[in-house]
Amino acid sequence: MIEIDHLSKSYGTHQVIKDVSLSIEAGEVLAIIGRSGSGKSTLLRCLNGLEQINGGALRVDGQAVSYDKRSLRQLRKRVAMVFQSYNLFPHLSAQDNVALAPRIVGKLERKASLDIAHEMLGRVGLSDKHNAYPRDLSGGQQQRVAIARALAVRPEILLLDEVTAALDPELVGEVLKVLGDLAGEGLTMVLVTHEIAFARKAANRVAFMHEGRIHEIGPADDIIGNPQTPELQRFLASVI
Ligand code: ATP
Ligand code: MG
Repeated sequence: MIEIDHLSKSYGTHQVIKDVSLSIEAGEVLAIIGRSGSGKSTLLRCLNGLEQINGGALRVDGQAVSYDKRSLRQLRKRVAMVFQSYNLFPHLSAQDNVALAPRIVGKLERKASLDIAHEMLGRVGLSDKHNAYPRDLSGGQQQRVAIARALAVRPEILLLDEVTAALDPELVGEVLKVLGDLAGEGLTMVLVTHEIAFARKAANRVAFMHEGRIHEIGPADDIIGNPQTPELQRFLASVI
């Protein structure tokens, strides 16, 4: 589990995350919503050490996050991240993109790493695309390969930053289905999303970020269906 305790993060004098406290339990799906610039990506990047925090504390499974190379490598095996831009290696097939981390980070042999790649491509519904190259895959398929790649280190927690935002509308559904399936399998996930209906359906809790703070947080149905603050009411009215 992740414990975020009075966390703050600044860029220079600009404080982007302000006194955020939050616990994410094993098996939980937490969706983070909010306006552009409210700090959603920054918070997510803090959770796997891509950004160093300035104040407060951050613990993963009870262990304080530290920023030396070795600790970061271990942290990112536990807490994997998928981005909006899937950034697959164009010269590697789907299976080799997914097998890369098990081979390098996990130090597995080719056969063992490919077994993991096939398992993970199966989980995202791409068992028929082992040998396809990124250029031969749709955006939605490429993003599913990127999700399989993140899963290949068998993380405890998956962070997803607007993973459907760059996709053509007709490809969004297949990626959301994969995320819904992973949630159903009990994978712990923190996802930043503009897909409000999906957040309501797939997330246990929703956090609304506003100006660097968690402005409202609670069960998905309450937050989306019965927003309490004018800021969240206005935000939902603008996106739904
Ligand atoms: P969006 O919905 O547009 O992705 P967001 O909620 O993810 O927005 P962040 O990317 O976390 O917002 O940015 C929060 C604030 O921090 C913004 O004001 C942004 O300009 C600033 N910021 C983000 N990254 C940096 C950086 N590397 N250096 C300086 N400022 C940054
Ligand atoms: Mg962002």
